[in-house]
Amino acid sequence: MLNFLRKWRKARRLATIRVPDALWTGVEQKLPFLDYLEPADRERLREFAREFLVEKEFHGAHGMPLTDQVMLAIALQACLPILRVGLDAYRGWVGVVVYPGDFVVPRHETDDTGVVHEYDDEVLGEAWEGGPVLVSWHREGEGPEGVNVVIHEFAHKLDMQNGDVDGLPLLPQGMSRAAWAKVFTDAYQRFCEQVDAGEETLLDPYGADSPGEFFAVASEAFFETPCLFEQELPRVYEQLSRFYGLDLAAGERRVRDKRRCHDGLPLRTFGS
Ligand SMILES: [Zn+2]
Repeated sequence: MLNFLRKWRKARRLATIRVPDALWTGVEQKLPFLDYLEPADRERLREFAREFLVEKEFHGAHGMPLTDQVMLAIALQACLPILRVGLDAYRGWVGVVVYPGDFVVPRHETDDTGVVHEYDDEVLGEAWEGGPVLVSWHREGEGPEGVNVVIHEFAHKLDMQNGDVDGLPLLPQGMSRAAWAKVFTDAYQRFCEQVDAGEETLLDPYGADSPGEFFAVASEAFFETPCLFEQELPRVYEQLSRFYGLDLAAGERRVRDKRRCHDGLPLRTFGS
């Protein structure tokens, strides 16, 4: 009965949210990687984004103005990681707090000798277990390059579904935890070596912080630069592709072929 009421209330509230086509298009144009989705998934993403706006409560911190564009852009990106599993993966919490840029989180940590250390940590985002998601929102062209805070924090939310942020989320049926752990452990170790050696990496070096951060930065690159990701980390790509239920590298190739076709360039040259 409760479930029925919940669904009924949600349907009523959903009916009140109408997003004009021009607003969808305007926001989506600034998220070009959404083009890598199949058309049916694009539709699904819009539906999930509407539901997300109904279910979650947005708060602007430090005077952050919450425009329709900002909320829609966050909702669309937050729903990317749950296209396969649905919004139930984000149940149990409602708050999305948006800051106008980096923000400071006070930390208290007790070391092995029992001494408490208090300090301010400057962050771009944070996901709390059973609590809100905090994200920074930069004006166009002002944010850190190659970072997608929204996908990052919501990947952490998925990781938290089965406890700690350890880079091992709840896997769908048919996926092997042992295979995931082996692929991610090997890739993480190699990544840490590259970062330590000062090599340039496709993934944000922040991923070397812990296996949980590695999973989150890998998820950002999986959605934003799938072809490069597949080339550089094919085994991790395969695991993420099965986990998220999306083959985005194929989508990116489709988009590129279409563009070449549109520009009148040859698609591919064979046999020469
Ligand atoms: Zn993180």
